[in-house]
This record gives sequence, structure tokens and C-alpha cells, in this order.
Amino acid sequence: MTEEKNAHIIHITGHNPHRKLIVVGGMHGNEINGVEAIKRLIPQLEKVLDKTNGTIYFLKGNLQALQTGERFIEQDLNRLWLEDNIQKPVGQVADFKALHTLHDLIVNDICQGKFEQCSFLDLHTFSAQSGIFAIPACNQKSIDFAKSFGVPFIEKLSESLPGTALSYFGRLGMTSVVFEGGTHRSAEATDNLEAGLWHSLAYLGFIKPDLPQVVKSRSHLEKISESLPHHLELIYRHKLNDYHRFKMNDGYFNFKPVKKAENLAVQNQSVIKSPESGFMLMPLYQKKGSDGFFIVKEK
Ligand SMILES: [Zn+2]
Repeated sequence: MTEEKNAHIIHITGHNPHRKLIVVGGMHGNEINGVEAIKRLIPQLEKVLDKTNGTIYFLKGNLQALQTGERFIEQDLNRLWLEDNIQKPVGQVADFKALHTLHDLIVNDICQGKFEQCSFLDLHTFSAQSGIFAIPACNQKSIDFAKSFGVPFIEKLSESLPGTALSYFGRLGMTSVVFEGGTHRSAEATDNLEAGLWHSLAYLGFIKPDLPQVVKSRSHLEKISESLPHHLELIYRHKLNDYHRFKMNDGYFNFKPVKKAENLAVQNQSVIKSPESGFMLMPLYQKKGSDGFFIVKEK
């Protein structure tokens, strides 16, 4: 393993080569909760994991952005997972270096072409004030996994976001899910992401489902999402070419109902209205981003 790859590895555990799980925290450098949840889980996991069940790889995403606490350095790592970018030689841009190192580590070293045996779980947080949800890649195994968390899960979102690791690994045939645990840097987000990890490890067959941590985590996820809609699909993405010119109106949060033609934001001095009625998702309240907001509706 090269030094570059080693720097991404938080921990590897288990020794069954036929079933693998890759967990990434900090694909966005300002989202430290994923790395925190992983670090909190590991010592407890080591006590209950039957190492013959599979191998689990806990990784860090955008290393340099994690160090500076920014979402990305020059380009959003979670919009770079496109064949063109992967084929290009490594430049000096930190986000591209992270892409190439992670790609080589996951695709070649870990999965070794056997993608159907591999699952990918990408831990994220968001800038809005509340909510929790899962996003599956576009294959049935991923949809089943996302649904299993018991929190809102959103179909058709991965297809509308080009260049996510989620979609890239889903297309390779992996079970691939993003788990969005809460507001950036909140204590709740780390708790929620850790609960999601316990659930995932049991759902994917790495640990026993009757472990106290799993039972507690599943009831926690159920409780915090009981008032939220559960099965949703994307109906609109407000893509941004220049996030400097976008200002979301105050007061929006995940799953807040919105009406068609409601004023949502201001962009280039023009009012942005909702094109449809539905629920707000991921309104942008941070400096950097490639999407202003999404509208989802119940399926
Ligand atoms: Zn993120």
C-alpha cells in the first residue's frame, strides 16, 4: 500500500475476502461528523465483530479539505467521479489527487473487480437545520439498503447528480448508499451517523442484529424520523454554476413543505420560485456548493 493510500485508511477489520464494506467519512472536508462517528464506533465494533463475516474498510475522503475544514479545495470531490476525470493523469489539485487515490484503493486494491461482493456507504451531513435521509444508487440492492434504515429515502436523486461516488460505485454493481446524518458539526449528526453505521453493519450481515447497539440504534433512527415522509423521489434539482450568486431565503429545512411558485431564493438579483409543490431538501446555507436546493415528493 502506498503512503498516499495509507493516509486515507482509518481502520481495516475482519478477514473474509468474500464480503466487503467500504465506509467513507469526510468526502466533503467540512463534514467531520462521519469521521467522528467511525472513530467512536471502531473500539466498540472490535468487541462484537465476528471477523470471519467479512472485511470492513473505514476511509477518509478529501484529506486536504478535512485538514482545512472546507467542503473542497478547488472542486467538489463528490462531483468528480466521472470516467473522464478518472482517466486523466493526476494534477496538483488536491481534490483530484483524492479522487485518484481513493479510486485506485477502492476499485483495484479492495474490490479487485468483484463489485457484487462490495458495499459502499458514504457518510454525509448538510448545512440545513434538521432532517435525516438516505440516498440509494440506481440499482435494486441499493434501494433496499437505503429503505432499510427506516428514515426517509430518496429515489432518482443519484441519477440527477453527475459525478458522485454513490452513482459511480452503483454503476459498477456495488450496493451503494449515501447516509445524510444531520447538520454539519452538530452532536446529533455524529450520534445519527453512528446509529446508521450499527444498522448498516447488521443489515449487511457483518454483525448480529440482536446486539444491544443495533437494537438501540434502530429505535433511535425510527424515533427521530417518525414525523417525516419516508419514501420520496426527486422532482427538481436547482443546479448552481456559480454559488457566489445564490442566496437561499431563511427558514428552510429538510422536508419543509413548499408550494408551487413559492419564493425560495435570490440568484443574480432574480427571485427563484419553486417549480412544483413538494418538500424542500438540502437548502444551501453554506459558502460552497453545486446545488441550491432540491424538491422531492412522496412516492
Ligand atoms: Zn456531503
